[in-house]
Amino acid sequence: MMQGLGRLLGIDNLSEKYAYVDDPALGHTSARRTAERWVKTTCGYCSVGCGMEIGVRAGKPVAVRGWEDHPVSLGKLCPKGLSEHQTLAAPNRAIHPLRKRNGRFERVTWDQAIDQMVTEIRYIQALHGPDSFGVIGTGQLVTEEFYTLGKLVQLGFGTKNYDGNTTLCMASAVSGYKRSFGCDGPPGAYDDFRAADVILLIGANIADNHPVLCQHLEGNREAFKIVADPRVTKTAMLADLHLALKPRSDIALLNGIARVLIDENLIDRAYIDQHTEGFDDLSAFLKKEWPVERAAAVTGLAADVIVHVARVYGRARAGFLAWTMGVNHSTQGAETVNAICNLSLLTGKLGQPGASPFSITGQCNAMGTRETGFASSLPGYRKFENAAHREELANIWGVPAARIPSARGLAYPDIIQAAADGQIKALWIIATNPVVSFPNKPQLERALSNLDFLVVQDGFHPTPTSELADLVLPAAIWGEKEGTYTNSERRVSKVNKAVEPPGEARSDFEVLLHLATRLGCRQELFPGWTEPKDAFEEWKRVSRGRLCDYSGMTYELIEKHGGLQWPFPESHTDVSPSRLYTDGHFEFDNGKARLIAVDCQPFPDAPTDEFPLVLNTGRTVEHWHTRTKTAQVAILERMAPNAWLEMNPSDAQRLGFRSHDRVNVTSRRGHVDRVELRITQIVAPGQVFMPFHFSETNVNEVTQDAFDPISREPNYKQCAVHVTLSDSPGRRP
Ligand code: SF4
Repeated sequence: MMQGLGRLLGIDNLSEKYAYVDDPALGHTSARRTAERWVKTTCGYCSVGCGMEIGVRAGKPVAVRGWEDHPVSLGKLCPKGLSEHQTLAAPNRAIHPLRKRNGRFERVTWDQAIDQMVTEIRYIQALHGPDSFGVIGTGQLVTEEFYTLGKLVQLGFGTKNYDGNTTLCMASAVSGYKRSFGCDGPPGAYDDFRAADVILLIGANIADNHPVLCQHLEGNREAFKIVADPRVTKTAMLADLHLALKPRSDIALLNGIARVLIDENLIDRAYIDQHTEGFDDLSAFLKKEWPVERAAAVTGLAADVIVHVARVYGRARAGFLAWTMGVNHSTQGAETVNAICNLSLLTGKLGQPGASPFSITGQCNAMGTRETGFASSLPGYRKFENAAHREELANIWGVPAARIPSARGLAYPDIIQAAADGQIKALWIIATNPVVSFPNKPQLERALSNLDFLVVQDGFHPTPTSELADLVLPAAIWGEKEGTYTNSERRVSKVNKAVEPPGEARSDFEVLLHLATRLGCRQELFPGWTEPKDAFEEWKRVSRGRLCDYSGMTYELIEKHGGLQWPFPESHTDVSPSRLYTDGHFEFDNGKARLIAVDCQPFPDAPTDEFPLVLNTGRTVEHWHTRTKTAQVAILERMAPNAWLEMNPSDAQRLGFRSHDRVNVTSRRGHVDRVELRITQIVAPGQVFMPFHFSETNVNEVTQDAFDPISREPNYKQCAVHVTLSDSPGRRP
């Protein structure tokens, strides 16, 4: 009141509000943004795993700055990281447990919420069997929470049907590594970007999607850089050679390269004989099926360009192959990974500095769920079907081995299909937003509307998914809890709590222990546990002796070194960049990697006269996944406020379109309307591109629910569409 009067009389000039200071980290800035203390942590967006510090003032997050000597990020952050503290105070944070009654949400206590969840799920399981309950997780929790969640779901709730949204981005890499090397786990290190003399990026636009990795790429001035991508992406612009291959023709390119390597004896015969099997079959297959001319015809590249790439890679001292979603988002994703691994194995370019087939992961802790989760493997990359592995786990946990499943449950898309078919009746969705992110949205909506009970546990509400829930559990997010993330190079980094979660939100770890208490299994499964470190200590024992061995790590050591790469067994002290398979011993029983012949299939949604354009989907640097977080960060939202469609000038001219027209994009499954048109040579004739972040203009209205039969990853790309002008209003005069 006094302040208002002062302002009215012109006495209060808001000097405190508008005071500026010179801050060593932020420069000339508002005094209200200067931190009283800085908390070291790891970025919670992507899998690069940048080290950062959160500035806190009066208990509130006020800034983020790079961690100067961090081994991954070297003090740099991208726009998302630099503004990440703003997600903590976003207006759409979930702050109370809510249950839906008569179509409206009402507040309940945590005890009521947990009681309702357990009662409903137990009732449904009693009626329809334990596997009528499904769980869809995320790559956003800390590893300690993933480990706890997997145990709770499988041994507490007793369902096998648990998977994560990581299946939407990384499952093909996981399956591909398992088929080629006998185990998941990216073999290389970021240091390989600097140590290689040839770098081939396949379907990897790291300039937009993993921006801080680009400093490692650009830091190597000597390497010959090749980017294979249908679009002239920002990453392609950094390359010495851009291979603008046709959509989904990467297997043809890789087979063409492999054929040249064999024909010109650019292979390492001693390595092949000692460390691999399947060479004769692969060689015969390539000689019969893949002359370079066929690779050229399928890819649209000149045959001599493919030969040149093969020679450059084959003659390299250290050749580094890296990929992301351009490879994984495919019905042949896992096989494409095998074709990439073939090149490394044929040439013996694996396990040395600069030489690796390297999958760049998506989310900040997708790797954590791969290591500890119960989804694609048992914890520690143990195999469901291996009785000795189940016995080993059961002994560590003190439970009968029969309680550990001998086969994996349904993968994410199959959980959705089972919900649509009425076999999954209750679903628990954790920190993900499938209504925006899952392909073929109409099918997803049918599945969710068929459920008897839907729980959504998330840091944000409302989201398009949480609005459909019967129960919403508010969760703490990055910056509000402690644990570890693993990045793409297997580096385990510390995540620290800087501020308290808002309202009644709790860490996922606390929610899981509360559920265990209500289920009556807390003392059996989580004896004496009160904090994430308890889970970390047990996980160290579970991972001991496995490829992802954490047993020599401590929170203190991890913090001290800005992360530690696994394997890090007891008594290990070397913190220099580490690589897998340095001795050529792989994780199959005979120790040999597998060379796998892979043929190239046409993609499932081929263009026709009615749907003549091939739609590609992807990301932009400003946003994260479904924009639940980044739409609330003003600077990011202003830079990219809406979706767009990229179209080549020749197609735009033929269709009579002009830049910034509003257009409708229609596939065999649905349509997305009033998308801004960008006419650009970034895309080739016959192709269009749209980012997938925007719920308002959701590209997943048109994408297809076709999945890799091996990895179950969706084919988000290569979808046949036609594009028409939107009705009104829209067209510029
Ligand atoms: S590159 Fe990834 S990890 Fe690094 S600041 Fe950006 S979003 Fe965070």
